[in-house]
Amino acid sequence: MSGPVEVKDLPPGPGPGVSTAPVAELADSRITEVGTVEVRRALPNRGRRTVGPWCFADHFGPLDLDRHQGLDIGPHPHIGLQTVTWLFEGELVHRDSLGSEQPIRPGQLNLMTAGRGVAHAEETPRLRRGRAHGMQLWVAQPSRTRDGEPAFEHHAVLPSVELDGSVATVLVGEFARAAAPSRRDSDHVGVELSLRPGVTTVPLDPAFEYAAIVALGLVVAEGRDVGPGKLLYLGEGRDELALSTNVPTRLLVLGGSPFPEQLFMWWNFVARTREEVEAAREDWMKRSKRFGDVASGLQRVLAPPVMWRPSGG
Ligand code: MN
Repeated sequence: MSGPVEVKDLPPGPGPGVSTAPVAELADSRITEVGTVEVRRALPNRGRRTVGPWCFADHFGPLDLDRHQGLDIGPHPHIGLQTVTWLFEGELVHRDSLGSEQPIRPGQLNLMTAGRGVAHAEETPRLRRGRAHGMQLWVAQPSRTRDGEPAFEHHAVLPSVELDGSVATVLVGEFARAAAPSRRDSDHVGVELSLRPGVTTVPLDPAFEYAAIVALGLVVAEGRDVGPGKLLYLGEGRDELALSTNVPTRLLVLGGSPFPEQLFMWWNFVARTREEVEAAREDWMKRSKRFGDVASGLQRVLAPPVMWRPSGG
């Protein structure tokens, strides 16, 4: 699962590092389609492009795949980002141009680092379609690593912590003194919270900005009701956050130091300039070795034309 960024995802928003105080801004996700499946795109959102280095968040499902054509996304390229795939139900198979072939199940993490270029495909296993529910997120790579080698990691087991009877699983970074083994190129954190009815106090790092995306259930945070299809942006400067629920609820909490670089995102590319995007697009369309081949029976996804006058005629 990974959806291309579209123009309507990226209206003019605040630049990097503008927020300096706790806030509680609730925004609607935008409903869009990835392949044949409807997704809720929480990031980028109107007025908010990033939370730390987190620059993209799609939530899909829960859905019954027997009624859909499946969650199959053919080979497509990425640059300058990490894809973070996290499931609540179901199974996906990841294949990439590094030769990785990796099924992923709930509680496990697939983390692909694109660097200067990688291609991957994601599909539901042919024989076990059933249900699908998950999120795919992107983390912008800092300039220090974004032109580096591509890489892929699968983590079958991640650290978990108990908080007031609720369970936190650390996907990336450090949380409540537990550290995930996942590669991290900047200072950020991603945590799944599985909340029991009641109040859970979540420890936070005041130097980070945070946001929460609910996958299932409903949580009250800072007096706001947050369910699926919303992004609750929390700003910086908090050392904890109280979450209350009446129903079992699962959500992701994403945080990080405000990303210091201005991004230029287009389609599946996270770059800094139009020229970089044009070059990546051209390399993909002419099947350059930069992206390599993916051993997938699915059709390659072609890049749309750029919406600006291409440089160099
Ligand atoms: Mn992708």
